[in-house]
Amino acid sequence: MAEDKEPRYDPAVIEPKWQERWAADPGLYAADPVDSGKPKYYVLEMLPYPSGQLHMGHVRNYAIGDALARQMWMRGYNVLHPMGWDAFGLPAENAAIKNNAPPREWTLTNIAAMKRQFERLGMGFDWSREVTTCFPEYYRWNQWFFLRMYERGLAYRKKSKVNWCPECATVLANEQVIDGRCWRHEDTIVEQRDLEQWFLRITAYAQELLDGLDKLQGWPEKVRTMQRNWIGRSEGTEVDFFLAEGIEKGIGTREDGSGKTRIRVFTTRVDTIFGATSVQLAPEHPVVVALAAEDSGLRKQVNELIEEQKKAREAGDVGEIEKHGIPTGKFAINPYSGELVPIWVANYVLMEYGTGAIMSVPGHDERDFEFAKKYAIPVRRVIASADPNAEETALPFVSEDGVLVNSGEFDGMACSDAQKKLQEVAAREGFGEATVTFRLRDWGVSRQRYWGTPIPMIHCERDGIVPVPDEQLPVILPDNVEITQQGGSPLGRVPEFVDVTCPKCGGAAKRETDTMDTFVDSSWYFYRYTDARNSSAPFDSAVVQHWFPIDQYIGGVEHAILHLIYSRFWTKVMRDLGLITNDEPARRLFTQGMVIKDGHKMSKSRGNVVSPDDMVARYGADATRMYALFASPPDRDLDWQEDGVAGVSRFLGRVYRLVTRYASQARAGRGQMLATPASGTALKLLRKLHQTVAKITMDFEGRWHFNTCVAAIMEFVNEVQAADAQLAAGEIPAPVVHELLRTLVLLLAPFAPYIAAELWGDLGEDGAGAVLRTPWPPSNPDLAREDELEIPVQINGKLVSVVRVAADAGNDAVQAAALADEKIRGRIAGKTVAKVIVVPRKTVNLVIR
Ligand SMILES: [Zn+2]
Ligand SMILES: [Zn+2]
Repeated sequence: MAEDKEPRYDPAVIEPKWQERWAADPGLYAADPVDSGKPKYYVLEMLPYPSGQLHMGHVRNYAIGDALARQMWMRGYNVLHPMGWDAFGLPAENAAIKNNAPPREWTLTNIAAMKRQFERLGMGFDWSREVTTCFPEYYRWNQWFFLRMYERGLAYRKKSKVNWCPECATVLANEQVIDGRCWRHEDTIVEQRDLEQWFLRITAYAQELLDGLDKLQGWPEKVRTMQRNWIGRSEGTEVDFFLAEGIEKGIGTREDGSGKTRIRVFTTRVDTIFGATSVQLAPEHPVVVALAAEDSGLRKQVNELIEEQKKAREAGDVGEIEKHGIPTGKFAINPYSGELVPIWVANYVLMEYGTGAIMSVPGHDERDFEFAKKYAIPVRRVIASADPNAEETALPFVSEDGVLVNSGEFDGMACSDAQKKLQEVAAREGFGEATVTFRLRDWGVSRQRYWGTPIPMIHCERDGIVPVPDEQLPVILPDNVEITQQGGSPLGRVPEFVDVTCPKCGGAAKRETDTMDTFVDSSWYFYRYTDARNSSAPFDSAVVQHWFPIDQYIGGVEHAILHLIYSRFWTKVMRDLGLITNDEPARRLFTQGMVIKDGHKMSKSRGNVVSPDDMVARYGADATRMYALFASPPDRDLDWQEDGVAGVSRFLGRVYRLVTRYASQARAGRGQMLATPASGTALKLLRKLHQTVAKITMDFEGRWHFNTCVAAIMEFVNEVQAADAQLAAGEIPAPVVHELLRTLVLLLAPFAPYIAAELWGDLGEDGAGAVLRTPWPPSNPDLAREDELEIPVQINGKLVSVVRVAADAGNDAVQAAALADEKIRGRIAGKTVAKVIVVPRKTVNLVIR
């Protein structure tokens, strides 16, 4: 029985109404207590930086997570789905300079605006657990962790060369320097400065961070590869050459080097060491510094090399530097052969990598060959082809597939065997060892900024560095600090902050004025969500143990390296502090694609930004969210098309009219059993329904092709609409109408929560959160099964006809049906059927001649 008036889908009316009801029910999206008895599911999207505006990339990220959270709620899980704010960071300071407003005020205003956007979009977050990283109740635990790391030698201070962005007026991490320029200031060349800096010893976990990647099967392979490369493990050997004091002879002289100054070199090819014809040192190597101290001519040349390196670093192309070196006139002794080789200083050897010294083997290394040619340094073969009949290989011969020659007692050994043997000799004789080196560097966390977590340290003239005692935490970031771009930390200009009493001697002392890298904040925030209001500990370990690891973490691939390596490191440190038992933060990771428009990532400078607020105002939150899921598979880039949003909105309008038109029929069938099994159109619709349920359920379990889920719902709705005449005439039994419409609403609920809530009421159900608490519909495989299948028949790869066969027909029956088809018979008449290939339930291929 049709309703009299044609109802109109108006999200501008429906959505605010439900938003208000949901807001009045703080328990709606709250996780149950840990002893609820339900299986737990922790789904998390990366927390945003509070810039003041959600962008479409956010909407997509959160629409994916929210759909998953809602479906898991319906499946009966105890779902934890929190949200917070990565609230420290440079933009707040820049805005403060621009608008003359304190960073805190600016940040909190932005948070309020973005929270309104989240609520308008209908995101199901548990706001009772909101974490705001710029609040002292959060960052005090950054300080607490820092102190624990300091106690264990995992936080330390050293003078180091740092990347300095003059525009940011602060230090940048290596990974924030892109092609020698600042990641935030594409036109600003990063300078090198020497500064005392705080570091976290992430390298202590390098091997474990690497090994752990093999176990993270639920992470995208590309992310694991990026992390492997970032950690950059390489095996090699460290060998001591000895400084030949007072000897100034030519190459080839032999000398016993015992007791002399050692020059430790790192090499991945110790098997070529008999081919070393020079040793190359970094300009800042201690031996060079010592030699230069006694030789003003050398000193001048070395300083030039240092200058060249500095320029190359600033331009970001140390690897591309024009190789340049100077002989020192001194010699080093090869510990294996006793041979004297000249010591050079080279601009391409960096003190901060490896040992700052290399052996140069021009016969078996491209770079060394190039250098030797330039300076007429001898080139010697020490590796030959393993095949004695092979032609002599050209030099440099860099393959490890060979045998040693001109290498004394090691002649004839295969390269890999020789490497092991030479390592054994070095260890036995005490002049070297097998080593593993990593590309990964310790994490420099010092920032000369205001808007970050103060590092809880005090500098005392008598006691040196004194940690702030736990009971004095948090070290509060003062308000009313003048932000300028003078360089140095703005906190250094606040005497009330800087001048303190030394906790050790009681004398006057100075507070550390650096603040922490904001990647510290995001390294453990997801643990805090589990116990967000704890004021005596970062969290309760038992509660974390219940929720961790995160079952599904969702965010942009741009966080594949830094955020995810730092948070994996933090997890391991917390485990070793005895606070948690999990080794990794997240079981599964999903990285969604970018949102692009007109071929480019949306950005203000390109002027191709689509505002979520505009879309919501025009088409509603449901259509905006659903389009973000429908327009492409979530792991691919999404090309934003406003037509597409309009199309989804029209589809939701059709759903709305369909359900409201037949809601009274559905209500009449509620709770009733069918007197006789469904047949005809009713059966066909039920079959389509259960096929759709099966498909969507399966997609939620891992494939996440939400675009095809939405498409499947559209197809189902089309089929129901095609039966409109029968529905209007009351020919579809009421219990079937009820099942069709009720299940349709449940299927829509994860993707379009507002319209689902509205229609749920029309079907006679009620309660603001009722859809969320209703079990996800089961798929009945008996109903979903087709009794007939349509099988395409191809001849020589071209589609010719389609035959209908029983769903359980065997291959012979399918082949017979294909050969009996009229169109097929016409085509094969007078020809030879050479082959028939039946792909069960899919196709029949005929090969004819
Ligand atoms: Zn910058
Ligand atoms: Zn003191």
